[in-house]
Amino acid sequence: MTRTGSCFCGAVTYRIKTEVFGARSCHCSRCRKAFSAQASAYALVQPGSFSWVSGEEYLSVFPPEGPASKAFCRICGSALCGIYEGEVHGITLGCLNEDEGIELKAHIFTGSKAAWEDLPAGVPKFEEFPPDLQLITKP
Ligand SMILES: [Zn+2]
Ligand SMILES: [Zn+2]
Repeated sequence: MTRTGSCFCGAVTYRIKTEVFGARSCHCSRCRKAFSAQASAYALVQPGSFSWVSGEEYLSVFPPEGPASKAFCRICGSALCGIYEGEVHGITLGCLNEDEGIELKAHIFTGSKAAWEDLPAGVPKFEEFPPDLQLITKP
């Protein structure tokens, strides 16, 4: 299935040719800052399946150096994807245009969640990483 995504202002858009996988929400303090929310919501993409459709020139990355960073629209501030060693590694679920069939496999780092956040019931929760990392790393 092809999925598409866009930022808040619509300048940056992308397409993914194959299904995303390993959807997770991370509640750690770093993700709270990076995603300006109670948690990140993120899924991995198959190598080579992701392409920018428009607005790539509006992307900024943070941090600018190092193997792992996040790309965001510098007009509206939406975080669109994670970049690992120069390749798009995964996407933020909030910027997907169609989210049918996406299911969070795990809520991770719930041990360091915000004091004000109530976790939803009935979802797999882990204080840190899940003991079986394949839950969030394998299609
Ligand atoms: Zn934007
Ligand atoms: Zn995190």
